[in-house]
Amino acid sequence: MQKLLVANWKMYKTREQAESWARSMIQALPPQGLSGRSVLVFPPATAIAAVAQVFSGHPSLSVGGQNFYPGTEGAFTGEISVEMLRDAGAQWVLAGHSERRHIMGEADALVAQKVLFALEHGLRVMLCIGETLEEREAGKLTEVLERQLGAVFSAAGKLDAASLAGRFAVAYEPVWAIGTGKVAGTAEVAEAHAVVRRLLESFAGESRIPVLYGGSVKPANAGAIVHLDNVDGLLVGGASLDPQSFLQIVSA
Ligand code: PEP
Repeated sequence: MQKLLVANWKMYKTREQAESWARSMIQALPPQGLSGRSVLVFPPATAIAAVAQVFSGHPSLSVGGQNFYPGTEGAFTGEISVEMLRDAGAQWVLAGHSERRHIMGEADALVAQKVLFALEHGLRVMLCIGETLEEREAGKLTEVLERQLGAVFSAAGKLDAASLAGRFAVAYEPVWAIGTGKVAGTAEVAEAHAVVRRLLESFAGESRIPVLYGGSVKPANAGAIVHLDNVDGLLVGGASLDPQSFLQIVSA
């Protein structure tokens, strides 16, 4: 399976900064394109179109929306729809990112609703799941991951391998490792990814849904993580803002 390297810019970058980052990426690509890897960028909504335009014609580079409201249109002040994201050039959306769960208060049920809505409306979904430090220390890793994945699969009724192929990925992101500089050790990543893989098999009957790791990935630790069994890519926040640092991660 191709490795997917994902940049989540959170609330950083103007259109000009985003465009300049995207051009650096294009300039660094080998003439034959990336081999065995693809890159996905989640810019802030205002910069999606600028990045998508620079990436157009490069099949291994794609763009997604960090957030959206699960409705087609209507009186939802401040929200953005999947159709608007697609119109700007997005092919993917993020759902369940820990900053949305823990800062914006998005509960499992809303995350599940968003996942299903985006899939039904033709966007690919990257679902983020992960435990807090408190949950990990209480031995609740499996319980939390099962609850977060279970919310999506039980709401869906019938999300199986065939319906999800190429349209769904999971990012395991321990909350205690996001933006903290504390990266999970390779044994911890391997253990959690094996749990996620097992849960996906039981919920969807699918073992090839990509499972990515995210949480303080840097050029120095990316190689050790991305080559682990069951790790199909990396979701990178802080270290994706600088194109040179992200490029080192892409080639780790
Ligand atoms: C993220 O935004 O999903 C993330 C993992 O951030 P960071 O790499 O900064 O920990």
